[in-house]
Amino acid sequence: MGISRILIANRGEIALRIHRAAHEMGIETVAVHSTADADAMHVRLADHAVCIGPPAARDSYLNVAAIISAAEISHADAIHPGYGFLSENAKFAEIVEAHDIAWIGPKPEHIRTMGDKVEAKRTAGALGLPLVPGSDGAIADPVEAAKIAEEIGYPVIIKAASGGGGRGMKVCQEEAQLETLMQQAGSEAKAAFGDATVYIEKYLGNPRHIEFQVFGDGKGNAIHLGERDCSLQRRHQKVLEEAPSPVISTEDRMRMGEICAQAMRDMAYRGAGTIEFLWEGGEFYFIEMNTRLQVEHPVTEAITGVDLVREQIRIAEGRPLSVAQEDLRFTGHAIECRINAEDPFTFAPSPGKVNYFHASGGMHVRVDSGLYAGYSVPPYYDSMIAKLIVYGRTREGCLMRLRRALEEMVIEGVKTNIPLHQELIRQDDVVNGDYSIKWLEEWLAKRAE
Ligand code: ADP
Repeated sequence: MGISRILIANRGEIALRIHRAAHEMGIETVAVHSTADADAMHVRLADHAVCIGPPAARDSYLNVAAIISAAEISHADAIHPGYGFLSENAKFAEIVEAHDIAWIGPKPEHIRTMGDKVEAKRTAGALGLPLVPGSDGAIADPVEAAKIAEEIGYPVIIKAASGGGGRGMKVCQEEAQLETLMQQAGSEAKAAFGDATVYIEKYLGNPRHIEFQVFGDGKGNAIHLGERDCSLQRRHQKVLEEAPSPVISTEDRMRMGEICAQAMRDMAYRGAGTIEFLWEGGEFYFIEMNTRLQVEHPVTEAITGVDLVREQIRIAEGRPLSVAQEDLRFTGHAIECRINAEDPFTFAPSPGKVNYFHASGGMHVRVDSGLYAGYSVPPYYDSMIAKLIVYGRTREGCLMRLRRALEEMVIEGVKTNIPLHQELIRQDDVVNGDYSIKWLEEWLAKRAE
């Protein structure tokens, strides 16, 4: 089925990203927006635009009824959810499909399975992915939990089955704390996600975050597009991502990538997905799967030459994958910096009017952003205002180019974390690729002393 008009159920840079892929394929776009985003670039560029509600996301970008109505009145025949908002909402995907609108995303049942972390872990285990040692599913009884913790060894981490965004996790150092922390984790999870279910697993001391990009055609064919290293994180939020990882060998990439791709074939997975692992001591440990496009997808595009959004749209049309595993080549190195409107020292959000904007340019420099001079960054949403993605034939060349590209970017009127990125990529550990998921917070703590 050919798609002729896509409603983009998102905002900001990712809405633009989807618009661009659609237009290159000769497909029209419909932007939806809150009243706060009436002047946003995604609204200006789209062929059609529909206002779906007031600023608060729950009344606009999360408002299912308003989005479905917008699709109907604008005669959209497909919906792309981007990331965040409704992208991993299985119910929404079902509603879209029930309205005979193509859902540019995975099958609703797969979104549902992977959205429940206990279910996801069980499924991943059954599909042959290596797991973090831990409880076999949900755990409620502290005595049983203590037994498992003893077996796997302290410290352990208590995680909420419905957790997300790094929330609902407690690290437990010893048995004496276990019962109290389980209760705390359960009640916090209940308050935040409406579900008190928790499970436990071994707490890894100093891992890296390595994730594999996968794609399935929904009919049993699937490929992997290598890994991304997203270990530089603050409060479980990624700050800088790179591909390939400086520590993964070609052999490990192909071996683990193939395990991931085979898992997707076995599931008959459809569309884009990311399988996330912690990596420590040369071993991979599955933590979760994201059933959507990721913020950091451009680094994979840079080293493979595959347009991932175009691929998503093709698959939603029922077409096959455009590239076979054996034809995929990983060439060079790419790094993405997430540019946020925030104070580079306190991390306090800094919304407001952008008086001047100059995007970096030149060879192998990509800026994905909806910014323009005169635009006001609204206070209601995520603070990410741009992504800078730089490619080089080698990691060293990529870092040199990134340094130059960060120098060139000018954003006036709001504070940004550009100075943080500039400092970060001059640190020896970052230059050497020698960092774990703890590195950034430890470095920030030292810097604050
Ligand atoms: P979320 O869905 O909330 O992002 P994840 O399961 O992906 O939850 O975990 C988020 C982050 O928490 C990981 O990137 C890692 O930093 C940390 N984490 C999760 N599980 C473990 C573990 N077993 N050991 C150490 N750190 C962990």
